[in-house]
Amino acid sequence: MYDVIVIGGGPAGLQAALTVGRMHRTVLLLDSGEYRNATVEHAHNLLTNDGRSPAELRRIGRTELAAYDTVVLRTGAVTTVAGEIGGFEVTTAQGVERAHRIVLATGMRDELPPVPGLAGQWGRRVAQCPFCHGHEFAGERIGILVDGEHGAMIERMLRPVVASAFLARPADVAAVTEVDGGLELELLRGGAERVAGVFTAATSTQRAPFAEQLGCGILPSGGVEIDPLGRTTVPGVYAGGDMAHLAVVPGPMVSLAAAIASGQLAGASAVRDAIMA
Ligand SMILES: Cc1cc2nc3c(=O)[nH]c(=O)nc-3n(C[C@H](O)[C@H](O)[C@H](O)COP(=O)(O)OP(=O)(O)OC[C@H]3O[C@@H](n4cnc5c(N)ncnc54)[C@H](O)[C@@H]3O)c2cc1C
Repeated sequence: MYDVIVIGGGPAGLQAALTVGRMHRTVLLLDSGEYRNATVEHAHNLLTNDGRSPAELRRIGRTELAAYDTVVLRTGAVTTVAGEIGGFEVTTAQGVERAHRIVLATGMRDELPPVPGLAGQWGRRVAQCPFCHGHEFAGERIGILVDGEHGAMIERMLRPVVASAFLARPADVAAVTEVDGGLELELLRGGAERVAGVFTAATSTQRAPFAEQLGCGILPSGGVEIDPLGRTTVPGVYAGGDMAHLAVVPGPMVSLAAAIASGQLAGASAVRDAIMA
């Protein structure tokens, strides 16, 4: 019986396990190795680590966790989570693990608009977040393939950064091809646009079903509802990272820094609530 099982080994889950481990509570971290930013070579906007690869960040995180005797890291997919505070059961292919409390940090899955060639550039020359990847296209022409008002908002955000922007609906683009260190957008009406990179909007859904299995409240955004201390609506179940946010904000602040911060809150609350019980 662990004090806490953390499901997910991205930045939120790794930080939650670090926080619990530093308090000498037993914690098992289970990680299926499917990271939202798996294709990203350089992540940005993370103080002291600006430009480092996410894979390297995870490697460093795992190395840091290895220094704590009460932390166990295991690779493998969780299939179900059941039970209640004081007696959760987490099932993997290797068997059933038990814990008093659970931290969910299983992230989100992204589906890109169905433009041929777009998904293959995801995290490289195609991105979603202007804060994370806008500066890398400074002084260049970019494409913004987003429906509706959101595309205009990205354009306004990036106006001081880039040279110019080509806005279109994803449905207007026949294909995206890499050419000479940039991208060519082949247009359905004919012709083509050359850009350095593209911003688009993915449709994001929960990567794992555990919040639903446990009966946690889900917000209209599709995020798991947490309170300011990272508690879900189910006692003993905490959540952090991209999968969770407060009801008062429209969606999660999707960033490494935010994931780390919310993972820390979830882990700390799991420790603190146990002594208050
Ligand atoms: C293309 C792209 C570029 C980005 N660039 C930046 C950037 O430059 N800077 C920045 O700050 N942010 C960036 N982000 C956002 C950032 O990557 C996310 O906010 C962050 O990775 C979220 O961390 P997380 O721990 O919540 O989820 P994830 O990193 O997705 O981790 C989820 C974890 O849950 C595990 N998991 C899921 N299901 C199961 C299961 N059934 N059993 C066991 N484990 C499971 C996965 O294996 C994984 O370990 C980018 C995102 C994308 C998509």
